[in-house]
Amino acid sequence: MIDHGDGAIARLVEQLLKELGEDVGREGLSRTPERVEKALRYLTSGYSKNVHDVLNDALFVEEYDEMVVVKDIDFFSMCEHHLLPFIGKCHVAYMPRRKIVGLSKIPRLVEMFSRRLQVQERLTTQIASTLDEALQPGGVAVVMEAIHLCMLMRGVEKQNSKAVTSAMLGAFRDRPETRAEFMELIKAGRGLRM
Ligand SMILES: [Zn+2]
Repeated sequence: MIDHGDGAIARLVEQLLKELGEDVGREGLSRTPERVEKALRYLTSGYSKNVHDVLNDALFVEEYDEMVVVKDIDFFSMCEHHLLPFIGKCHVAYMPRRKIVGLSKIPRLVEMFSRRLQVQERLTTQIASTLDEALQPGGVAVVMEAIHLCMLMRGVEKQNSKAVTSAMLGAFRDRPETRAEFMELIKAGRGLRM
């Protein structure tokens, strides 16, 4: 459920528009403060969810101990330094040790942490450490690749340059061949398709 709020953000946005020199009375802006409030509350709705809600009804005991990979998960987040979007792909893998999680829950976990103010580095490690705690697997790997509008729009980086972050735990950290297998599996179809 999206909390449409009490209008406190809308009032701040109206003030912001005035500070920017805008005429808040003109037609195009008349409903902008409410829209921005609604959008911001949606884009930060991950704060009102927790790991328990997302994962706990979908943990199963299974004697499967091969690598599980969910790749090319689209994610949309907001950089906490500029409140501008960073968007990209997330690839997740784990080596089960008696516990598996419903595959559809992994994108939902990515979404929960993405819909908060973030830095890409923390987002990556939060996803990895949460799966590590919930599944107690032989290892977890998370790779995220994203473009940051705060870099692109301000001309800090060339267009299309991507930031890549990774978190490797357990077997993915300790065994180069396991990490290599994961990197090979996510390489096909790698990259942003926008
Ligand atoms: Zn930024």
